[in-house]
Amino acid sequence: RVALELSGVERHYSQGEQALSILKGADFRLLGGQTVALVAPSGTGKSTLLHLAGLLERPDAGEVSINGRACGSLSDPERTAIRRNEIGFVYQFHHLLPEFTAVENIMMPQLIAGLSKKEARERASALLDYMRIGHRAEHRPSELSGGEQQRVAIARAVANAPFVLLADEPTGNLDPETAGYVFEALKALVKQSGLAAMIATHNYDLASKMDRRITLQDGKVVELA
Ligand code: ADP
Ligand code: ADP
Repeated sequence: RVALELSGVERHYSQGEQALSILKGADFRLLGGQTVALVAPSGTGKSTLLHLAGLLERPDAGEVSINGRACGSLSDPERTAIRRNEIGFVYQFHHLLPEFTAVENIMMPQLIAGLSKKEARERASALLDYMRIGHRAEHRPSELSGGEQQRVAIARAVANAPFVLLADEPTGNLDPETAGYVFEALKALVKQSGLAAMIATHNYDLASKMDRRITLQDGKVVELA
């Protein structure tokens, strides 16, 4: 099953008088259950690609499809609904809500999606156990280590069982050992849930542990060995 597909995607910015072509016909497919590392130097368009894949921006040409559904002709509210229910985001800095506990942070997107408190708490607890931090459920973010915070952020991102997980340097502010643990937990989750994960990272060690590696070259997606 193709969870994420970009075909012929173009994105051009204007910088003063000049047009800056960042994506020039990018093609890419990611299957459910696959992890792909997006490895490219700063300024080549990683954030642009993640924003397009996450339906935060619209391409100037080409099509982005989530779980087989072409999103180009959809309205903004329809795209927002897909973003909430079918796509999860993880950032370098976790953006957890400081006044809520770990389990409450993970319940939040489910409550917004209309689940009951009981259902949301059950799924949040299961995810915390899966990420091996069940014993930290009632702690607030400030009481958690960096690795624990990032695992809560990943659990929150997948709380609504999305098809696609997009992560921008999710372990960028962690020491290598902790980054390794967090990534292993993420990978286990991907395999268990059939989620497709695209992870922008500068960490070659982590990239080497993913199913695939891609980069951006000349405005196109290029597969690395
Ligand atoms: P990366 O994430 O790889 O660092 P970005 O996708 O953020 O790259 O940006 C790629 C290039 O496009 C950069 O040169 C950046 O300055 C430019 N750029 C990004 N967003 C805009 C924008 N909204 N307007 C003009 N230029 C932009
Ligand atoms: P730190 O507290 O140093 O930031 P973490 O938050 O990543 O570290 O993890 C807390 C503890 O949980 C670590 O000491 C580690 O031994 C253990 N741990 C975390 N993830 C795993 C895992 N996937 N497998 C085994 N042990 C783990």
